[in-house]
Amino acid sequence: MKGLVYKSTGSWYSVKAENGTFYNCRIKGKFRIGGIKSTNPVAVGDHVNFDIETKGDETVGVIKHIEERDNYIIRKSVNLSKQTHIIAANIDIAFLVITLNNPPTFTTFIDRFLVTAEAYDIKAVLLFNKIDLYDEDELLEIKILAALYRKIGYECIGISAITGKNIDKVKLLMQDKVTMFSGHSGVGKSTLINSIEPGLSLKTSKISEQHLQGQHTTTFAEMFDLSFGGQIIDTPGIKGFGVVEIDKEELGDYFPEFFELKEHCKFNNCLHIEEPQCAIKNALESEELAWSRYKSYLQIIEGDEEHFRKDIYTP
Ligand code: GDP
Ligand code: ZN
Repeated sequence: MKGLVYKSTGSWYSVKAENGTFYNCRIKGKFRIGGIKSTNPVAVGDHVNFDIETKGDETVGVIKHIEERDNYIIRKSVNLSKQTHIIAANIDIAFLVITLNNPPTFTTFIDRFLVTAEAYDIKAVLLFNKIDLYDEDELLEIKILAALYRKIGYECIGISAITGKNIDKVKLLMQDKVTMFSGHSGVGKSTLINSIEPGLSLKTSKISEQHLQGQHTTTFAEMFDLSFGGQIIDTPGIKGFGVVEIDKEELGDYFPEFFELKEHCKFNNCLHIEEPQCAIKNALESEELAWSRYKSYLQIIEGDEEHFRKDIYTP
């Protein structure tokens, strides 16, 4: 049978078969996918093939095969084993919920999120929430920010989880897709998800960061069906996306607006920092590129690891 993994506890998996029935499944033997060593071979969002085994009046599924993943998000375990934990797989859209204030979302945070999404090969959409709260100046600020990111190719929507403004647009994007939400605590993720699908209460923002800090916890993601088609992945305790390791030389590849320009740098291994005749720096001078994006680029390349972790990833 074919099915989709909705929940994982590390040893048991809840799999929804194509006929809509949920089966408790386990795995037999060893799985290895894409050469990564992970603590959990099967992740939420995986498409699997499984067999049904009946023992007495108990029916269990045995996962035999995992279909190749379009993408997956990981986290490195904090303990010594340094094992990789796959949080979820096959994500169609990662939404980042952003507010200007209460709490502030800085462009460096947005850019780190986008870089990670590019590295993971997941489509990212920016949602500017609480637009009902902003005065004219703040609305202008949002407009400028949204224009900056739209120009690079990212979809941006101004929304209000409270008034319902543009929630229909978000739902349209989510329909028949697998989606997840990220953003600082307090930006309105729970309120938004509730307005999208009333009654669906996710743990995403319920677990306080304090609670998780310094604690060796393994939180498992869970997937939920949306009444209008599609699924949402709840990633308790994970604010952002997990951490991907990106080489300096690679980083420019995850800034889409650098793509064409960097062909014109004098050195083909140009890092766009000190090198002469750098097309990226020239484009900055002519304001073709945004300084805030370049600042984020430098910050990531300088390996502000602690800041990175604190910003994007808890614990
Ligand atoms: P989370 O931590 O990201 O899940 O944020 P919550 O959903 O708990 O929201 C934090 C606070 O912001 C709550 O007091 C919400 O009522 C409020 N809030 C969320 N969305 C909006 C919005 O669109 N407009 C206004 N005015 N308040 C909002
Ligand atoms: Zn350059």
